[in-house]
Amino acid sequence: MQTSFGTGQANRESTDLAFTDPLTGLGNHRRFFDKVDRLISDRADDPAPFTVGILDLDGFKPINDLFGHKAGDDILIQVAMRLRASMDGHSTVCRIGADEFAFLYPLVFSEDAAAERSRMLIEILSAPYDVGERTARLSASVGCSLFYSGDETTEILINKAETALYHAKRSGRGRVVVYTREMEEAAKRVTRIEQALRRAVSAGEVEPHFQPIVDLNTRRTIGFETLARWTDRDLGSVPPTVFIPIAEERGIIGPLSQLVLRKATEAARSWPKDLFLSFNLSPSQLVDQNTGLHILAILDRTGFDPRRLEIEITETGLMNDPASAAQIVEDLRRVGIRVSLDDFGTGQSSLGRLREFHFDKLKIDRAFVSSILDDRPSEHIIRAILAMCEGLGMDVVAEGIEQEAQADRLVQFGCAGGQGYLFGKPVDAAATLGYLRDSFRGALRAKAI
Ligand code: C2E
Ligand code: MG
Ligand code: MG
Repeated sequence: MQTSFGTGQANRESTDLAFTDPLTGLGNHRRFFDKVDRLISDRADDPAPFTVGILDLDGFKPINDLFGHKAGDDILIQVAMRLRASMDGHSTVCRIGADEFAFLYPLVFSEDAAAERSRMLIEILSAPYDVGERTARLSASVGCSLFYSGDETTEILINKAETALYHAKRSGRGRVVVYTREMEEAAKRVTRIEQALRRAVSAGEVEPHFQPIVDLNTRRTIGFETLARWTDRDLGSVPPTVFIPIAEERGIIGPLSQLVLRKATEAARSWPKDLFLSFNLSPSQLVDQNTGLHILAILDRTGFDPRRLEIEITETGLMNDPASAAQIVEDLRRVGIRVSLDDFGTGQSSLGRLREFHFDKLKIDRAFVSSILDDRPSEHIIRAILAMCEGLGMDVVAEGIEQEAQADRLVQFGCAGGQGYLFGKPVDAAATLGYLRDSFRGALRAKAI
């Protein structure tokens, strides 16, 4: 009797353990799946919808790194206590990942109510946490999905909540997103583009186009920016603002970038030797230490002089992993490649970065240039940027110049470099060669006069 009772208890304990998160005492992912499975079968005859949600702490890793793992654990325990306290008798919360919690609201039927409840959870978690003598603050993002029909499984519901969470995270901290059908359509479209892009990259079908960069005083072309272009047989022409972020997210940016750089340097070899070629690097490439090696290997293969190459990077690219970015930039500069800071003024501009990193050039974002004629603040900002660049010994290029009056104003302020539709749109290698021949002939004619 005793033995059998003992075994029964041991069994129950081990089953409990298998369903419990040891740190917080909440249920774990198994318990959560089990609860949702049961609710789905209960609802087989009852059409009422219900809500599942996934909550992910924003910026937990830096807190863990800053305060230590013990403190990180304490915070997770406090988070779990707050979440548990906020559940009513019908609802469940479980810890399903390191800093990820899932909740089930059997009586929440509408998207509005789901969002409302989620916002409440974020609010509850935003109060300060005691960490020894100090306090820490956290925010959280939530993705929810609603169960509507009997053909949805637990897995599908949780995947949908995860997709919604991904959208929430992408749009900033402390956001709630409820899964919608449009999201599913958008996710399918991204997958279609990803597959087509993978094929195009291996078939070598992404092409470099080139846009002239000019000396604003003489209007002479001094170099070209490489801009990737892709036309798929089914999807048609897909703009880089769409396919570059997908390439980054889905890990295709490395091979894509190598393909475009190879083709661009091959094309630029036959240009006059005093013209430079600039090339964009994505933020994710600056956390990959192989990026520098790949670039150097391509230059080696195509025989393009590294001193004619410029790399454009953005402030976002420096923020993810500044040490890694610094290392890559240093490797490139060592062989004579120049480095520009692209789209200046649009990111989380930190002037401190300009002290830490040495840039050869700064590109003023189109947003300022387009409003220079009718917006006093833009004018002041451009003047301040120009003064700063002069002090720091950096070249400047103003992007997106479309009108003569904008170019005139920039020259008046002392801006030396310009780029924009006024001087030329991005065109393919053959058209660029034609453009150069025309400019060359123009220059010859001017000399003859
Ligand atoms: P970006 O590097 O800032 O490139 C400048 C963008 O402004 C280009 O857009 C160019 O076509 C556009 N532009 C130039 N002049 C004007 C103008 O006067 N008016 C207007 N309205 N637009 C102008 P595009 O080609 O669509 O490229 C968008 C972004 O995609 C680029 O911004 C760059 O961040 C990224 N990108 C393009 N090619 C590559 C690539 O090969 N690798 C990486 N990593 N990113 C790329
Ligand atoms: Mg650029
Ligand atoms: Mg730019």
